[in-house]
Amino acid sequence: MAVKILIVDDDPFVLDTISYFITSFGHECESAGSGLEALEKLREEHYRIVISDIDMPGMSGMELLKEIKKDYPDIGVIIVTGYADNFSYAEVIRDGAIDFISKPFQQDELEAKLNRVIREQDLIKELERLSNSDPLTGLYNRRFFDLKLMEELRRAARQDYMVVLAMLDIDRFKSYNDTFGHQGGDDLLQQIAHVFRVCTRENVDFVFRYGGDEFAIILTQTSIEQSREIARRILDTYQDQEFDIGETGLSIGLVESSWDEKLSWSDNVSVLVERADQALYQAKNEGRNRICVWEEAG
Ligand code: GH3
Ligand code: MG
Repeated sequence: MAVKILIVDDDPFVLDTISYFITSFGHECESAGSGLEALEKLREEHYRIVISDIDMPGMSGMELLKEIKKDYPDIGVIIVTGYADNFSYAEVIRDGAIDFISKPFQQDELEAKLNRVIREQDLIKELERLSNSDPLTGLYNRRFFDLKLMEELRRAARQDYMVVLAMLDIDRFKSYNDTFGHQGGDDLLQQIAHVFRVCTRENVDFVFRYGGDEFAIILTQTSIEQSREIARRILDTYQDQEFDIGETGLSIGLVESSWDEKLSWSDNVSVLVERADQALYQAKNEGRNRICVWEEAG
């Protein structure tokens, strides 16, 4: 797969040569003549790899490396050193570079290093996906929920929009398991995950298996009315599907994000989860298969 690469060097001849190599390997590449120009390009576009010369007027390659690691930790930076540079492999790697190449280098050496970096990045991505997802349903897992909710609340506060948290629990799942067996129960969990996926907005809402038969959805850039509609669509889609859902239903608790300055970020997160749980249990107490919204009076 073609990868987007940014090359940084103050020597136009070196830029041309490396660009030529990289294009011939089948990757996309762009160049920047200085560290500052590179940072500008990084703000505008996403690159997976940056190849930077170490010795440049103005911002050096090592300074650029530090800036990139601070703001874009996922980008792999390969540092290119010349004859006269006194940097060791150990120093460059210690400061966060993913690899190091010294001039003059052969085309196949550059190709091999790029391939290694791309393979490593793919592997890290796959490990992240595995550690964040629930194997049965493919939804995000509880571990990722805690991180994501914190991140979304921070973003919402910064950009001044609202986040709604929904907690959902299957009604009468124990008796479904008793009737259809554990495998049948697993199939139902997968079916429910599918319902959540089709009823929520891709890359805007985030669906998690919270544990057992409990799920959570983080609805971003929304209002409580809009969230109620999404929850209603989930209940209707669940009831109307062809899959045999037996006597089960879904109880849903909703709460809109609020912010108490006296509390820490993580305490604010706990408060939100607790309130969504209270609304969920109110939905259970009021007869199940319904939506309840948390309100100040409880
Ligand atoms: P309620 O209406 O009050 O929610 O009752 P319930 O029967 O749904 O029971 P409850 O939510 O208290 O318990 C969840 C049940 O879900 C208990 C457990 O046997 C079952 N369960 C949890 N994880 C799995 C799983 O991965 N697969 C299957 N098949 N069942 C599971
Ligand atoms: Mg249940």
